[in-house]
Amino acid sequence: YPLDQFAVPQHYKDDLNSVMIPNGLILNRLEKLAQDIVEDIHAPLVVLCVLKGGHQVFSDLVNFIKQLNTRAGRSLPLSLEFIRMKSYHNDQSSGKVEIIGMNMSNLKGKHVLVVEDIVDTGRSLVKLCNTLNEQGPETLRTFSLLLKRTPHSNGFQPDYVGFEIPDEFVVGYCLDYNEYFRDLDHICIISPVGREKYKEAA
Ligand code: 5GP
Ligand code: MG
Ligand code: MG
Repeated sequence: YPLDQFAVPQHYKDDLNSVMIPNGLILNRLEKLAQDIVEDIHAPLVVLCVLKGGHQVFSDLVNFIKQLNTRAGRSLPLSLEFIRMKSYHNDQSSGKVEIIGMNMSNLKGKHVLVVEDIVDTGRSLVKLCNTLNEQGPETLRTFSLLLKRTPHSNGFQPDYVGFEIPDEFVVGYCLDYNEYFRDLDHICIISPVGREKYKEAA
């Protein structure tokens, strides 16, 4: 969608080409996926947020599940956990991921849903799932807001996917380019100006 048809922060006006997925559409999709999750899973669930990019989708998804628990007579008890992984420098995947931030031994015997922002090559989630499976969870499911159609995919298919997107670098809704653009509500395509402005020294 043309950028001027949506509310975007003034400071990013020149840094974006277009809006790929407006915030309202993301929320509608998450509302439906929350219903699917509550249908599928009947046991207390550990929802594991992969920071930082997964923060916004995690928070909105959990809110929709909470609404189902309070207003729709559903009951899916949640506990919330957070980890960090880092795999990108500028917009290139390094092929290595770091996992930081949580005592994973409390996942033993639990039903776990990992919430990610985007699956590109699939390497991060494969690595993370291998590490988590070593903890002996009862079940391990994966959720990704976005799934990129790319020839570099390792074939990893999350259990829940918000949107399949073309092979472009996207920002917004907590997805970053060198830590910028997390403070943007919509998922957008960065412009050459933005790419240059927020480029990191190699
Ligand atoms: P993968 O290991 O699947 O190649 O990459 C997953 C991680 O790379 C994501 O969690 C995200 O942090 C980052 N990533 C991959 N594609 C994009 C993109 O288009 N935009 C942004 N901002 N990050 C991306
Ligand atoms: Mg991520
Ligand atoms: Mg990032």
